Amino acid sequence: MPTALDKEEILPKNNPWQQALGQLQGVAQKINLEPWIYDRLAHCKRSVTVSMPVRMDDGSIQTFEGYRVQHNLDRGPAKGGLRFHHEVTLDEVKALAFWMTIKCAVVNIPYGGAKGGIVCDPKKLSRGEMERLTRKFASEISFLIGPDKDIPAPDVNTDPQIMAWIMDTYSMNIGYTVPGVVTGKPINIGGSEGRREATGRGVAVATFEALKTLGRDIKGSRVVIQGFGNVGSNAARTFIQMGAEVIAVSDWKGGLYDKNGLDIDDLRLYKKDGRSIADYPRAEHLSNAQLLECPCDVLVPCALQGQITKDNAQSIKAEVIVEGANGPTTPEADRLLRERGVLVVPDILANAGGVTVSYFEWVQDLQAFFWNADDVNRKLTDIMTRAFAEVYAISRREQVDLRLAAYILAIERISKALLVRGIYP
Ligand code: GLU
Repeated sequence: MPTALDKEEILPKNNPWQQALGQLQGVAQKINLEPWIYDRLAHCKRSVTVSMPVRMDDGSIQTFEGYRVQHNLDRGPAKGGLRFHHEVTLDEVKALAFWMTIKCAVVNIPYGGAKGGIVCDPKKLSRGEMERLTRKFASEISFLIGPDKDIPAPDVNTDPQIMAWIMDTYSMNIGYTVPGVVTGKPINIGGSEGRREATGRGVAVATFEALKTLGRDIKGSRVVIQGFGNVGSNAARTFIQMGAEVIAVSDWKGGLYDKNGLDIDDLRLYKKDGRSIADYPRAEHLSNAQLLECPCDVLVPCALQGQITKDNAQSIKAEVIVEGANGPTTPEADRLLRERGVLVVPDILANAGGVTVSYFEWVQDLQAFFWNADDVNRKLTDIMTRAFAEVYAISRREQVDLRLAAYILAIERISKALLVRGIYP
């Protein structure tokens, strides 16, 4: 049976940048956004495309394409991850940069939004090839990035080691060590405690708050998670710590199910050896399509965009969807879920825990003064809980869903910054 992560399904029918603009139009109408502010947000401030010849292990030279897009800088330096994926496009990166602008405003951290991408299949690259490609990209975009300008971070298929190479390349070129140029670094070179787990932990906190609004307890809730990368696996772990049962998870290859709850620590160990969890022997197997339709209380998509579509939205049984991934729900699916009364906690709120702890990392780097894991986690929970309460209050007041409420909150914050700064000259 084809899985939801098969090629045809991954490529959303609608272009992600169109999806982002559609969301912007929706909120602009609702709050009567001034046309010039709408125009400002409907365009990216800077988009850079680079081509990068890289020497491969066999001596041949292969040319890769990469992008860095800064969507908006009105509330502070640009911030956002870097993804390595064979299907990355400039429009996808523009949409992701736009969502970063909105996300940083939702949680009220002093950044604009950016994103980067390299078109490559990391599974096919050796460690040396990966390092040369990363360093080449860091050099190509070094005029754009910096602690006061634009601060990359991990995203799909990028990790602390890749951040270390970017930090080192930038520092070598400039002549001194600049830890604050990227976040999500290894802890011994200026990374933060808790950064790796932060997005997943924030997803679990958002879920806790969402269930609370329905008068439900997270304890005993049945959770299904699509994606078992950094976000999905850390969310799973936090859900278990909170007393929920994770009954199904998947990766790109397929899914696993256990009605009594999966052993997440065992699965993480199994995956560590480079194996796909789809081959794990101690649970029932199911496809990604079946996983999304599994009876459960909470569905947490933590893979790629465009997974919940008009074709499967009606078959989803969860009462709450919490978007760990960026853009997992297409606009048509969003409408269908709203009509059915499914509570969707949008990406721009639900997965903001990652960039929130990136902000903490950057602050620690700039001060050269480091916090312990308890401090980081407590501050993360405070920010996520406050942002959820603010978004929820707007959704009640305006009688709109949480996505539109989060957009209203974010765009009002960005507009205020724009209006008080004014237009130069
Ligand atoms: N890639 C993450 C996101 O989409 C984190 C970005 C960051 O930490 O700057 O939110």
